[in-house]
Amino acid sequence: MSEVKQRGRRRASPSVTHELVSTPGTRREAIAAERLSSPSNISVAHLLRVHAASGTGQRVGMAMAATGLVLAVTLPSAQALDAHQIDTVASSAVSVETAVTAGAEIPITFASPEVASALNPDGMLKETLKVNASNVTPQAAKGTLGAPLKNLVTSSPFGGRISPITGQMGEQHTGQDFAIASGNEVLAAAGGTVTFSGWHQYGGGNRVVVDHGNGLSTSYNHMSANAVKVGQHVERGELVGFSGSTGASTGPHLHFEVIINDEPVDPMGWL
Ligand SMILES: [Zn+2]
Repeated sequence: MSEVKQRGRRRASPSVTHELVSTPGTRREAIAAERLSSPSNISVAHLLRVHAASGTGQRVGMAMAATGLVLAVTLPSAQALDAHQIDTVASSAVSVETAVTAGAEIPITFASPEVASALNPDGMLKETLKVNASNVTPQAAKGTLGAPLKNLVTSSPFGGRISPITGQMGEQHTGQDFAIASGNEVLAAAGGTVTFSGWHQYGGGNRVVVDHGNGLSTSYNHMSANAVKVGQHVERGELVGFSGSTGASTGPHLHFEVIINDEPVDPMGWL
């Protein structure tokens, strides 16, 4: 026993790996030494072998499989989330930030600056909605709604697409999908009054609709649970429910809609 340990210590170099396999502890040391000695040669298969040696291989394999599964089911457009899309997400997140500032270019009456300022997004939205939502220009609309999730990872965009449910071409996708695991907070995009909270009969699953006034509403779909009741006033950023995959959904995500006078429009025009 002690002799083996001594030999292990004395000869703890990659060249003695075959001698150390007899005891699990020293085998891990040997593998660790091997990893350290050639970091550039570590492959996924190699890492799996290492983890198999330490008894965690199955979990690693499951985690990797689960990651692939999640990507497959949360992106109904059947497109992998590649680096380009991540770039797009990152840059759109930046544009959401800057859009709030750019929104100050909208003609605004500063009679009540404490209401309409870049630091008061609901005040800005109120100013924007002095005209009916259908008459708001794209420039004025951009940035007036807040993100319905803490992290927006866009998946399937608004507009025509192949249905992830039926596989048919020509489906009109009425909202913007954001990839999000179940159980995360879904937030009101602006202050308003809850006009619907319940089960949507046409595929939305657990759905909440918030009316922001003058023709503008937002809806939050496929949630695992709703957190508000009809008639309740919500502030911008307030919890309306938890993400999920209820209704016509192929995996956990948030289907977010912006609705102008009962017609869905592209939510990205308002975020
Ligand atoms: Zn959707």
